[in-house]
Amino acid sequence: MLMECHPDICLANDLCQNQKFQKRQYVSTKIFKTKDRGWGLKTLQDVKRGEFIIEYVGEIITHEEYRRRSGEMLANGYSNYYFLYLDARRMIDAGPMGNYSRFINHSCDPNCEMRKWSVNGDARIGIFAVVDISAGRELTFNYQSDKYEFEQKCFCSSENCRGFIGRKTDEWNVYIPLSRFDYSKSLTNRHAQETPISGYLKSRDS
Ligand SMILES: [Zn+2]
Ligand SMILES: [Zn+2]
Repeated sequence: MLMECHPDICLANDLCQNQKFQKRQYVSTKIFKTKDRGWGLKTLQDVKRGEFIIEYVGEIITHEEYRRRSGEMLANGYSNYYFLYLDARRMIDAGPMGNYSRFINHSCDPNCEMRKWSVNGDARIGIFAVVDISAGRELTFNYQSDKYEFEQKCFCSSENCRGFIGRKTDEWNVYIPLSRFDYSKSLTNRHAQETPISGYLKSRDS
């Protein structure tokens, strides 16, 4: 895992370029209404490949609490989900305490990805550019993981669009960020089990 400098230890002091999470050195972004995919997020500045864009922040909850909340939301017909797998014990719920990062849409041909960093000994998740992105472009990442629970139609309109986000699986070994996931449109709606994973999935607004 990549590590940020601790401010008390780093010899570069104020010049340190490796405390972007801690100093919230985010790219300037803006929420906008997409034509067909609900809200999205675009960059207001040119972004270089590999650049840190924004942290995926929210309330840190246990997997148990995640199951309780998502089950309750499902039962009450909510369609806005912002859960993201953090580690084997914890999830991030960006619903109550999130920032703009939760508005980033899925694309099968994304210009960003999520990376896990260690910041003063704790895991945090950031969104990073995987290509150069010019100002004004929408930011996207692939919610896809090898295995996930949910399936719904994809509207990303990229050339290599798979047509669907998620797919049916018999193995529940993946946790998923269920951002803005509309359960009513899902073909499956099983809950994840408490086992470690390696991937992410989010879904669009209805
Ligand atoms: Zn440093
Ligand atoms: Zn697609």
